Amino acid sequence: MSFFSSLLKRNEKAGGGDEAPVFIENGDALSTETGQSASTKTTGAIATARSPAPSPSATPRSSAVGLSLASAFKKITTGDLLTELHPSNHGVAAGTDEPDAGSKSPSVSVVIVGAGLAGLAAAHSLRCANQGISLLVLESSDRVGSRIVTRDLESSNGRDFWDLGAQWISGSQIHMMQLVDQLDLQMYTQTDAGTHLAHFDDGRKVAFEALTHPFSSMTKLDYTTFISKVEKLRLEVSLENPEDCPMAREWDSVTLEQFRKQHIWTAAAQQYFDAQIKLVFGVPPSEMSTLFFLFVISSAGGWHSLFEMGSETAREFRIKGGTQRVCEILADKINRSYLKLGDPVVSINQSDSELVTVQTLSGKRYRCERVIVALPPKYTAKINFSPPMTMERDGLLQRMPSGNSLYFVVTYKEAFWQKQGFSGYVIRVTSSANKPSQSEAETTENGAGPQIPFTALFDATTMDQSPALSGKVEATKWRQIPIEERKVAILKGIEFYFGVEAMEPLDYAEVDWGTESFCSSYPSCVFAPGAITGYFQALKTPFQRVHWAGEETTVRWFGFMDGAVYSGKRAAQEVLNELRPDVVVGV
Ligand SMILES: Cc1cc2nc3c(=O)[nH]c(=O)nc-3n(C[C@H](O)[C@H](O)[C@H](O)COP(=O)(O)OP(=O)(O)OC[C@H]3O[C@@H](n4cnc5c(N)ncnc54)[C@H](O)[C@@H]3O)c2cc1C
Repeated sequence: MSFFSSLLKRNEKAGGGDEAPVFIENGDALSTETGQSASTKTTGAIATARSPAPSPSATPRSSAVGLSLASAFKKITTGDLLTELHPSNHGVAAGTDEPDAGSKSPSVSVVIVGAGLAGLAAAHSLRCANQGISLLVLESSDRVGSRIVTRDLESSNGRDFWDLGAQWISGSQIHMMQLVDQLDLQMYTQTDAGTHLAHFDDGRKVAFEALTHPFSSMTKLDYTTFISKVEKLRLEVSLENPEDCPMAREWDSVTLEQFRKQHIWTAAAQQYFDAQIKLVFGVPPSEMSTLFFLFVISSAGGWHSLFEMGSETAREFRIKGGTQRVCEILADKINRSYLKLGDPVVSINQSDSELVTVQTLSGKRYRCERVIVALPPKYTAKINFSPPMTMERDGLLQRMPSGNSLYFVVTYKEAFWQKQGFSGYVIRVTSSANKPSQSEAETTENGAGPQIPFTALFDATTMDQSPALSGKVEATKWRQIPIEERKVAILKGIEFYFGVEAMEPLDYAEVDWGTESFCSSYPSCVFAPGAITGYFQALKTPFQRVHWAGEETTVRWFGFMDGAVYSGKRAAQEVLNELRPDVVVGV
């Protein structure tokens, strides 16, 4: 049974298979909604999560953030994509179940495949440009947002919202900052006040402060020398053409694990590096090329942005009410009648010289002028392309593995870890993700501690001061265990670090990203050795009338929501260049 036919039953149940074809009209509300140009609005509000013992650095850090946002918005509003509005979009998207009778007229100008953040950003850009370009977004699952998911849980204040997928944004992510502003959302600072903990394989629990490393001075020197080396080398990697840098072949033939063996000397620093890589990329350093690693660091603006916590880092802010609100509001602004959920695209046919035919699992066909495919590589590879995709793109899709993790949130009445002076951040430096570390084995044998499922833990206290901890579990081992047992093991792990109050949560939720249909790419794909030098340009080069979006096709903040938004805008601009060359969306 094929991947798609195994899903047919579920989709029929969800109503995706037997809807009447839709006739999509121009949404009257759109002009009003999008008529509020970002350039006329104020910067999205930022609040700092209150902490019982705020760090002395909290206030200066917040003001630094305000400054960086102001400069980011100055840049954005210059080429604002919402300023050009025309009321003349007579969008028609008539999907048909009938065999294509050779009609030469498109049912819609542009079909966007995938309603994750990238697909929504592409659709939003096209709707805002509003140059008579009709569009339709086809989504396989029954909701928008995919790797972005927010749940409401019982909290100390009644109920509140927590993210179980993408959760943080950074002031240096200008495309996300712009969206937060346009959509009138509020952000708050991820608290980093208090002491972090690193728990090593040999049982040592090392306390350390933000922006420092949990080592003795010799190991620290080893690690910081390595960081300096990486920062120097990554400057040689061009974001648009990483395959062209002088050392490209050498770095792309070496795994990151081999590279770090050559450049980090001490065992503790090596293990800590591996733990940081697994936390950020979801896979161990043995699975990605060194060139890819250097490319991603550059795409995020440096080591600090990618690996640290605090100002101008990837873990700087959260969005009040959860990140899924970004996708839900975007879907409203695009106009939900342009979105068809629960019906995956199965084929894209470009054999006609003028039009592309996109077919869904339920048998509907849409003829269009251009297609934007906004999917993770492993799902793009499941679509039947006719003519087949280029060898280069096919080769690339086979060299982009992704991780396999489970995310959880536990809510509490009180932030007991903060009272003890802890930030709530714990990184577990285990030598193997899937078997208990030495320290676990020892503590279990001694009866002194539990087997701990999570490899990282964060304070997830909300803007309304509802205390919570969130964390990440390497799922291969722990998904075999029933959820109630897994939950108890997680609580015991928290108790191990922060005391007995951990055992009295208010609520618990988890998402296993390894088993979610259509979005099992945690948090993103990586490039295996050889992929960049062999195939990088195929990632975003349009394939005839098919354009590529999705955060894995980006050169800015690769692996992050900001990259997804950027890729959607870039693909929208490519389509406009072909259909309305005079319109600029401002990428
Ligand atoms: C657990 C986790 C934590 C993360 N943390 C962060 C974070 O803190 N900060 C951050 O910036 N980023 C984070 N990310 C990454 C972020 O979520 C992604 O970069 C971003 O959401 C990717 O968006 P996308 O649109 O490119 O892809 P996706 O979200 O994967 O969207 C693709 C869409 O295509 C649909 N689809 C698939 N196949 C088909 C088909 N055949 N037909 C139609 N539709 C199809 C899918 O259902 C999905 O809706 C995290 C991701 C995960 C999983």
